[in-house]
Amino acid sequence: CSATKTFHSLKPTVELPPQHLLLSADAYAFSLRSGLGCPDSAALINSTTGHRLLYSEFALRSKTLAAYLQTVIGLSKGDTAFVLSSNLIQVPILYFSLLSLGVIISPANPINTQSEISRLIELCKPVIAFSISTAAHKLPSLHHRTVIIDSFEFDSMMTGPIRELVPVEVSQSDLAAIMYSSGTTGRVKGVMLTHRNLIAMTASIHEGQSVRSSPDVLLYTVPFFHMIGFFYCVKSVALNETVVVMERFDLRRMLTLVEKFKVTHMAVVPPVLVAMAKGDATDNNDLTSLESVSCGGAPLGKDLCQAFTAKFPNVAIRQGYGLTESSGAVSRLLDPEECRHWGSVGRLTGIFEAKIVDPDTGLALPPCKQGELWVRGPAVMKGYVGDRKATRETLVSDGWLRTGDLCYIDGEGFLYVVDRLKELIKYKGYQVAPAELEHLLQSHPEIVDAAVIPYPDEEAGEVPMAYVVRRPQSSLNEAQVMDFIAKQVAAYKKIRRVLFVSSIPKSPAGKILRKELRKLAVPGSLSK
Ligand code: AMP
Repeated sequence: CSATKTFHSLKPTVELPPQHLLLSADAYAFSLRSGLGCPDSAALINSTTGHRLLYSEFALRSKTLAAYLQTVIGLSKGDTAFVLSSNLIQVPILYFSLLSLGVIISPANPINTQSEISRLIELCKPVIAFSISTAAHKLPSLHHRTVIIDSFEFDSMMTGPIRELVPVEVSQSDLAAIMYSSGTTGRVKGVMLTHRNLIAMTASIHEGQSVRSSPDVLLYTVPFFHMIGFFYCVKSVALNETVVVMERFDLRRMLTLVEKFKVTHMAVVPPVLVAMAKGDATDNNDLTSLESVSCGGAPLGKDLCQAFTAKFPNVAIRQGYGLTESSGAVSRLLDPEECRHWGSVGRLTGIFEAKIVDPDTGLALPPCKQGELWVRGPAVMKGYVGDRKATRETLVSDGWLRTGDLCYIDGEGFLYVVDRLKELIKYKGYQVAPAELEHLLQSHPEIVDAAVIPYPDEEAGEVPMAYVVRRPQSSLNEAQVMDFIAKQVAAYKKIRRVLFVSSIPKSPAGKILRKELRKLAVPGSLSK
């Protein structure tokens, strides 16, 4: 290992369009090779009905919808649209309409509770909300208008009379999306991403792809409201891929769809790979079309990769690592040779450079040394909406983004994620912010103090575990604590373990010493 301090990508340089180039409303043609130019191939396949929506129809629908939203509803550049939906075929069409109008998309998980949704709405301040019918009642009755996505009304907005669209000039530096992440500490924040961020990300993905005679067929089990799914929606259209849209994840159904639609690539979170590698569900389907599975969002063990490859020797596992704040993948394991470096999350993509910084001294470290990963490049977020302090703490000098992950980069440029320095818990790839759960726990009349940390779990990766200090004489039990939280949060945020303690270890400044709590919670050391 040499003495490198800044790690540059070993991939070819990615060409980006000149920064000053405006995006036209006619075709959101930011990609190097716009999918909208291939009218006869399928953009989306509705997995329930089997209906294929061609690119020509996709372009027409998103344009018709954009014109409706502009001329009838009055949306204009810089407005924000809150989107609360599961993976429906309408969502990518809606995304492209909004992008073409310069309207900022803010997608969120429809299983969030009413109060969670209110908080997101406070952050992004939308003028309109698009929601699935089953989640619309959770939207606060504000001044914004609500459109139900799975409705006849929405269908007619996409397919109705074609209206004249007033051209909108969207700059690459304009905001494209506000996504949600708790970052390295505290409660959920709105991550501001620009069109330039998405363009750079699309270009970096495009760079690694081989040219094929027929379009790739992709199946995403990742939600379209999460950074990974959101970005995949955008890049698949931009790169002329066919996306099989599956509304709800179900392993057997997913495998049936791979066979039926000859899926070539899937994007999943680690629990799906676990299920495929370990279960026998895969034995009944012909999966020979499948070439690769992209997996990210949480760690993927070496043993799991081995078990998966033993079962599916012809399917490459493309592990990727990234953050909402970096618009997605910072590094990927790409070609078959690289894919054998299991345990690593790959090499930096062509648009990122990195540093490994000693958390104590702030100095950049050489290869093979562990420290906090900092990344820089054109896909790094603009900042957190309305939160200068958090932005300053995360986007430090010269455009470096602090990831909050403890990593090292070896002499061949492979990145390894060792641990998380930040507070975040990842349950099946979903973010759970300890601060949010601690806040709720502390509101319980019988709880004096509380801290929440991740506890390792084979299926979910991690589950939230609470350390609770009860009031003297309180008889509050574990189940009551879990129930108290479960009533107030989306299911993936539930506390699944509780330990009563006499005090929460804190630094002199009052900061919870999470490291100590995590050491205490080593599996096997607890009775429960
Ligand atoms: P999110 O913003 O929800 O995508 O979460 C980003 C965080 O997920 C990262 O900072 C990491 O802590 C974690 N993460 C993402 N991908 C990986 C991976 N391949 N291996 C380990 N951790 C990961």
